[in-house]
Amino acid sequence: MKDSSKKKCRCCQKARPLALFHRLEGTTAIHPFCRPCLAMTVRQRTADRATRRVLTKRDCAQCGQQLPIQMFHWLRASNSYHSYCRPCHAAYMAERYRRLMEVRKRG
Ligand SMILES: [Zn+2]
Ligand SMILES: [Zn+2]
Repeated sequence: MKDSSKKKCRCCQKARPLALFHRLEGTTAIHPFCRPCLAMTVRQRTADRATRRVLTKRDCAQCGQQLPIQMFHWLRASNSYHSYCRPCHAAYMAERYRRLMEVRKRG
C-alpha cells in the first residue's frame, strides 16, 4: 500500500496521518502544519502578543509621562486607549465631580 494517507508536517518534519492536519474550510487545501504544531504556533503567537502588550508604552496627554499601556483605560467605543493615564483620569474625574457639586451648591 502506498503511503498516501500521510503528509509531512512542515513544522516538525514528521510524516503524520492526514487526520492530524487541519483542512482549510471550503477548500481542498490542507494546512502545512500538523494539529499539534499548529496549536503550538498559535499559543506561541498569543504569548508574543501578550509580551508585546506589556512592552507597549503611551504618552499621557495630561502629565506627559510615558507609561505602560496598562496604566491607560481601554475605550471600547472608540477602539483605542484613553489619552490620560489612570491616575490623571481619576484626578480629572474627581475635579469634574467637585466642580459639578460646586455648581449645584451655588445654584
Ligand atoms: Zn508537526
Ligand atoms: Zn498622566
